[in-house]
Amino acid sequence: EERSSLLEEKNELIEERNAEIQQKAEALELSTKYKSEFLANMSHELRTPLNSILLLSRLMAENEEIEKEHQEYAQVIQSSGQGLLSLIDEILDLSKIEAGKMELDQANIKVDEIINNMRSLFNPLAKDKNLQLVIDKTSDVPEFFNTDKMRLEQILKNLLSNAIKFTSKGSVVLNIVKNEKLNAIIFKVTDTGVGIAPEKQGMVFEAFQQADGSTRRKFGGTGLGLSISRELAKLLGGYIDLKSKEGEGSIFTLTLPIDTNKGFEGTIPWEKP
Ligand code: ADP
Repeated sequence: EERSSLLEEKNELIEERNAEIQQKAEALELSTKYKSEFLANMSHELRTPLNSILLLSRLMAENEEIEKEHQEYAQVIQSSGQGLLSLIDEILDLSKIEAGKMELDQANIKVDEIINNMRSLFNPLAKDKNLQLVIDKTSDVPEFFNTDKMRLEQILKNLLSNAIKFTSKGSVVLNIVKNEKLNAIIFKVTDTGVGIAPEKQGMVFEAFQQADGSTRRKFGGTGLGLSISRELAKLLGGYIDLKSKEGEGSIFTLTLPIDTNKGFEGTIPWEKP
């Protein structure tokens, strides 16, 4: 008799606690939603005035009637404004993803078009730094595959610009290969740059994190690119992996299903421990 009432009391306590936990989870979800909405609205409101700043500073920088020195000031306003605009875009992307509002625009895209786009974007940057840039695919890669072209290019731009940014000599290679077992297409970006220490390798995918605290001063950047890329890769049904050795270089691999709607075949590697 006494025992069963004791048990009842315990059960009641557990139920109370569960209700509390449930309430807290709901409150957390709501505040995350408000935060994302606030960020999305803010980003939108910030862009409008910034666009005028960008337009007018560009006109001033290009105006031959203005004193040379002042043209250069306008140039600085222009490039600082550009930096601010990319930061706003990145924050907007991240908040959209967090709020579950990032919509995909899927289509059959041509792999060769991606290759050409990346070559023309990054050849000049690699040349500037005297780096060898190789972008290639193996012959088994299908001509077309299904994904969101803009988001795929956003991830590749991030990986390639990082690879070039953190490499001072040697090469940056983008290899596109097929993985038969997974029915996947793999984009492998290899550089011969500074590399990332083992204890920092998990951290670089977190928002605002950089492997080296002095990176922001030396290389610029916000520390948002990789966290956005990782989330985008997930949205596209895939994942990003990192292998790196300090002082030797890094390999970032983006693995995507050949058909986003079907996903991978067999076991999904990122669900394994
Ligand atoms: P950002 O490049 O704006 O700092 P990212 O999120 O793209 O932000 O990268 C986060 C950090 O990861 C970088 O600051 C850098 O420390 C490290 N990192 C990224 N890519 C590389 C790379 N290819 N080689 C060495 N370090 C890298």
